[in-house]
Amino acid sequence: MKYYSTNKQSPLIDFKAATIQGQAPDKGLYFPEYIPQVSEELIKNIEQYSNEAIAYEVIKPYVGDCIPENDLKKIVEETINFSIPLISINEQIASLELFHGPTLAFKDVGARFMSRCLGYFVKDQNKKVTVLVATSGDTGGAVANGFYDVPGVDVVILYPSGKVSSVQEKQLTTLGKNIHALEVKGSFDDCQQMVKDVFANAADFPHLFLTSANSINVARWLPQQFYYFFAYKQWADKNNPPVITVPSGNFGNICAGILANASGLPVQHFIAACNANDIVPQFLQTGEYKIKNAVATISNAMDVANPSNFVRIMEIIGKDIPSLKEKITAYSISDEATKATLKNVFDQHHYLLDPHGAVGYAALEKYLSTHSSQKGIVVETAHPVKFYDVVEPLIKQKIEIPDSIKQQMESEKKSTVIDNETEQLSAFLNSK
Ligand SMILES: *Cc1c(COP(=O)(O)O)cnc(C)c1O
Repeated sequence: MKYYSTNKQSPLIDFKAATIQGQAPDKGLYFPEYIPQVSEELIKNIEQYSNEAIAYEVIKPYVGDCIPENDLKKIVEETINFSIPLISINEQIASLELFHGPTLAFKDVGARFMSRCLGYFVKDQNKKVTVLVATSGDTGGAVANGFYDVPGVDVVILYPSGKVSSVQEKQLTTLGKNIHALEVKGSFDDCQQMVKDVFANAADFPHLFLTSANSINVARWLPQQFYYFFAYKQWADKNNPPVITVPSGNFGNICAGILANASGLPVQHFIAACNANDIVPQFLQTGEYKIKNAVATISNAMDVANPSNFVRIMEIIGKDIPSLKEKITAYSISDEATKATLKNVFDQHHYLLDPHGAVGYAALEKYLSTHSSQKGIVVETAHPVKFYDVVEPLIKQKIEIPDSIKQQMESEKKSTVIDNETEQLSAFLNSK
């Protein structure tokens, strides 16, 4: 399998090179040169397959010869060594809980897969690899955890000061060792732009071997397909595939779902559930892709103005707008509606969503109100405790902090504060 850049101005490369490079030199995103098909047999008998076997079958064609079978099997096993249950909320809606990994959000899967692949690729290199990543909240923690103490790898994380939750901040600032947190006085989009600027000028940092760990990296993006296969495995009514609603920010997760569907996985329809950052819902409505500034919301991991992965979705559907509209419906959900949904679902169904999941749920309810014979899945992307400051006042109860993060919550935050200027990031990198 080779990968091309969506800007078409870079040479084709394999999975190893794409993982190490992150972004293509022409600033495009790497995309597989064809979409492999999973076997019909796997889809038909999916309940008989272990999650590990499914994941291996799905990812194998994308990795090609870059990692030998036994090493890849081990990487896959470590990537998904926690449960991903599908929990029924009511007769029409189930929740796919993606928050049982070490940092309580779905990004653990992509970050663990990528860190282990990169660890494998740099094993016999003499230059240290520096992973540079911007986070709107959950990426940082997942990447920090995934790469913590991996030999030969340094991690630099940029996050918007005051715009991530306290649990998120602890997860990315308390590990130390090879993990460095830069607290940027600006927005997530500023952080992302600074990272992009540095990559565009990587030659300025000859002493570093830079790579990204954002969802634009194929090794983070592609394994997210696993969730959708695991959801289908647990879906009772195989003759009526689910409508799947995905809380979306940078659109990496939903794009992986759409890729899984294009590979042969049955999915009725996708819903891109956005908060007030509504560029994609607006685009589907008006045909105009109008970039605005990011707005801060209570579902902060989705506070993204211009989602990087949208270009990959266009690539999958052949840049055809009618096909896009047939495949996806997008909604923008206000903070008020998000809060009301979170509270209602808790009161009526005794199921506690996090604010991102609540955006997804509200969007799914909207869709089902005009498609009442269908049933759907909410991709629940984070544990509600990560956003306890929003959730607890709504349900008027304390959420128990899982044992797995108790100790981290008591550790001391260590970050370097910088302005939202690329020169300050460059200076930091040059001081390393
Ligand atoms: C990152 C994140 C999202 C958005 O995912 P994208 O792949 O960027 O669309 C949604 N919810 C949570 C909790 C997240 O951490």
